[in-house]
Amino acid sequence: MKEFDCADVVPGCGAGFRAPTVAELLAHGRVHAAHAHGKAEADMPTVDVAVTAAIRDAG
Ligand SMILES: [Zn+2]
Repeated sequence: MKEFDCADVVPGCGAGFRAPTVAELLAHGRVHAAHAHGKAEADMPTVDVAVTAAIRDAG
């Protein structure tokens, strides 16, 4: 299982996600970035990089 806390990228954000694979976690991150942080489709490559850097193994 992988996990991602949005606060590692956006300080103060309380959102956190878990998924079995990095790919699924990136998908969650994209949806959250769009809905909660107003990211546009053009921002998604940057979002992927930031989320990937913040992903941890959740055991
Ligand atoms: Zn967030």
